[in-house]
Amino acid sequence: MSGENASWAERSDKVFMKTYARYPAAMVKGEGCTLVDAEGRKFLDCLAGIAVCSLGHCHPAVTEAICGQARELVHTSNLYYTLPQTELAELLTANSFADRIFLANSGAEANEAAIKLARIWAGPERYGIISLAGSFHGRTLATVAATGQPKFQEGFEPMPEGFSHAPFGNLNVLDAMVADQTCAILCEPLQGEGGVRPLDIEYLKGVEKICRNHNLLLIFDEIQTGIGRTGTFFAYEQLGIVPDIMTIAKALGNGLPIGAMLTRKEIAASFVPGTHGSTFGGNPVAAAAAVATIKIMLEDGFLAAVQEKGAYLQAGLEGLASRFPALATGARGMGLIRGLVLTEKGITVGPDMVNRLFEKGVLINFAGNAVLRFLPPLIISKEEIDQLLTALGEVMADCNS
Ligand SMILES: *Cc1c(COP(=O)(O)O)cnc(C)c1O
Repeated sequence: MSGENASWAERSDKVFMKTYARYPAAMVKGEGCTLVDAEGRKFLDCLAGIAVCSLGHCHPAVTEAICGQARELVHTSNLYYTLPQTELAELLTANSFADRIFLANSGAEANEAAIKLARIWAGPERYGIISLAGSFHGRTLATVAATGQPKFQEGFEPMPEGFSHAPFGNLNVLDAMVADQTCAILCEPLQGEGGVRPLDIEYLKGVEKICRNHNLLLIFDEIQTGIGRTGTFFAYEQLGIVPDIMTIAKALGNGLPIGAMLTRKEIAASFVPGTHGSTFGGNPVAAAAAVATIKIMLEDGFLAAVQEKGAYLQAGLEGLASRFPALATGARGMGLIRGLVLTEKGITVGPDMVNRLFEKGVLINFAGNAVLRFLPPLIISKEEIDQLLTALGEVMADCNS
């Protein structure tokens, strides 16, 4: 391999820790659903920076908000009030169950804040957090301890105390796991990294009931599902379940790093000056990007279009599953987070299918060792979805033999 991509990859590999297995492309530009690499090659981006660039790359209104704010004020710390973060918190409270917000810089930090709030709310005797097998909650030590996938914990033990994992989908076991020291149940309404696995509504209602019966906080990690991804502003709206605490991040700033923890004021009252904080959290530029992002998503028709395009993608994926039953059993997800569920044979060629799609200029990934995952920008057109489905069909035909 030679050329610009290879040369950037070589320079990069000399200076970075090997925490990422990267595809051989150095991206230099993005517009809408298109990414362009250092050699001018275009990709149809059906991952959106892992559910982040939901309005597409370099959305003009977000770029304008970022540039405008960068000319006025970039950072102050949280020792002072700033305008964009106040506007952002107002938008988030006006459009969710919550009336109090904490701003962080990432998903893991939002979850850390939620874990700390749950513990301080419950008092010193109650510190236990139960999460679910197959979940993903972040890479910091506490969030990795909460994550229900041993591969993320291996080698980093001992894990912080107080985290346990319930098997996926079994309410009796979950109920039996609740102990005197338990203070909260943490779960994703739909497991993203775990393989686009939706939780059954009846199961989630059962989780809510267990929380109410035992005076536990119900924490929803909507870091991947939140901010329009599922076709409503938050996934919980479709479930008829209201959490006590919710965390969001990924799509919030359409690419600028920002996360948030949302709750009600009675619970929030356990945080007082000095109990928790962040130097950068709610930074004016990131907050301005988030305000611009949310305003567009809440425009009339935006979320309805996400649902409609999500159903269109789902139907297309189901069509491919029935054309290639040896590779896929069906499709699942909500809105524009979708997974093509692979058979045992399909799983063995899953990474190969992703590579072949990359070669064809389409970006997706393999999640939870079970599905091909699709997280396109929410602004994707039906023509672009067709382009994805056509390329995927060709790849599946190649891998079918
Ligand atoms: C991505 C993700 C996180 C971690 O977010 P970071 O910003 O990478 O720290 C936590 N929970 C869920 C559900 C996620 O998808």
